[in-house]
Amino acid sequence: MQDVIHAQRVFFNSNTTKDIKFRKQQLKKLLSVLKENEQLMYDAIYTDFKKSSFDTFTTELVLVYSDIKEAIKKVDEWASIKTKRTNLLNFPAKSYVIPEPLGVSLVIGAWNYPYQLSFAPAVSAIVAGCTVILKPSEVPVNTSKVMAEMINSNFDSNFFKVVEGGVETTTQLLKEKFDKIFFTGSTTVGKIVYKAAAKHLTPVTLELGGKSPAFITPNANLKIAAKRLVWSKFLNAGQTCIAPDYLLVHKSIKDKFLNLLKNEIESCHFNPDNKNYVQIVNKRNTERLVKLIDKEKVYLGGGYSIEERVIEPTILDNITFDDEIMEEEIFGPILPIIYYDDLNEVIEKIKNLPKPLSCYVFTKSMSTKNKILSEISFGGGCVNEAVMHISNPNFGFGGVGDSGMGSYHGEEGFKAFSHYKSILDKPTWIEPNLKYYPQTPLKLKLIKLFFGLK
Ligand code: NAD
Repeated sequence: MQDVIHAQRVFFNSNTTKDIKFRKQQLKKLLSVLKENEQLMYDAIYTDFKKSSFDTFTTELVLVYSDIKEAIKKVDEWASIKTKRTNLLNFPAKSYVIPEPLGVSLVIGAWNYPYQLSFAPAVSAIVAGCTVILKPSEVPVNTSKVMAEMINSNFDSNFFKVVEGGVETTTQLLKEKFDKIFFTGSTTVGKIVYKAAAKHLTPVTLELGGKSPAFITPNANLKIAAKRLVWSKFLNAGQTCIAPDYLLVHKSIKDKFLNLLKNEIESCHFNPDNKNYVQIVNKRNTERLVKLIDKEKVYLGGGYSIEERVIEPTILDNITFDDEIMEEEIFGPILPIIYYDDLNEVIEKIKNLPKPLSCYVFTKSMSTKNKILSEISFGGGCVNEAVMHISNPNFGFGGVGDSGMGSYHGEEGFKAFSHYKSILDKPTWIEPNLKYYPQTPLKLKLIKLFFGLK
């Protein structure tokens, strides 16, 4: 591992990755390697957790492809030198900012969208001119293997290398010095990564998780809300970092909304044989999820098979913030509903919980929408929709507080792997002596004037 990191550092120092043409070539190559190997990727992910090719394309590959295309199109602009205004004190200098790649980067992926969460950060690293060591999640073994085979047989390891492995491998990697670490995963492991990075003062982007609430207010379009929430919650069997973790439904619409959710779930025919419902990633997670189903509170579903790693879409009714299911991110197809009476009270409650990755508001009321959006701190979200903010390439994507730091996709991804050097470029034909000795009251007065002070 040390050899690979060293070789990447030597390669980075050769300045090859600073050439924009090189970056474009590598991005084009990545796009064609992924396209050529699509079927292998579909087969691997289906073997790992029965994710269909439709879902794999629409929730993973299409996002990576569009990130690559955007990066190729915009890299000249993103990497260009940006002119800044020069202040009076420094007149007649030129001021500009030079984006530079941070250097050798480590990307650590999570398992729930294994391709997207490994390749999208790698695209950001490549477009910014970094070299990449990618450590995909070891949990879905086949997707990890297919990524290693695809990348390691097509790319120079001095530039882009996939290292497979679990906790032990990641722990070893984290001992080394990188110029950037990009981590996607749980808040608990995020803290381990942050601590390891601090030793080398390595900048990090942490894409973490949390409990994302969805508010449903009495005047919302309830039919649409039920449709959009059911899709976004049970997509990938709830194993989505930005899935609505729980619903906050106003008491007055309780029965009507429950009924709409039930009809919507039934009309989806969620069924692994239909290829529209993926498995839980492993037995350990299936057991963890099953323990969260409080039988007394099941409104719908609740059935499961540990052996098959399947849990029915499940709605838990009359949940309170004190229930066990509200302690941690669910990350599975269980949807708890908390009924609220007073919006202020529930907002106050959420403000005192760890900051969520997402928040969703279903309402027709402008003031309710503004209140929730302005009062609660969260990574990103939607109004009258859920999850889909990830699909807008013009947004940066990331968390805040416990749900992470930094963001990526598009130009935000470029920035995450770049440093911006500020340069004051001064001519020599004039040499004002304001800063030089002797220090006089007149000079002080002039300096204050230049800064707009008295
Ligand atoms: P995880 O934290 O268990 O694992 C993530 C990565 O860290 C894996 O590559 C794993 O090998 C490594 N790892 C695990 N334990 C480690 C340790 N002790 N030391 C060093 N490395 C270690 O997360 P996961 O189970 O793969 O993913 C689920 C979590 O990720 C959820 O919390 C979810 O919300 C979050 N997530 C966040 C985003 C986002 O973009 N913000 C996206 C997907 C998932």
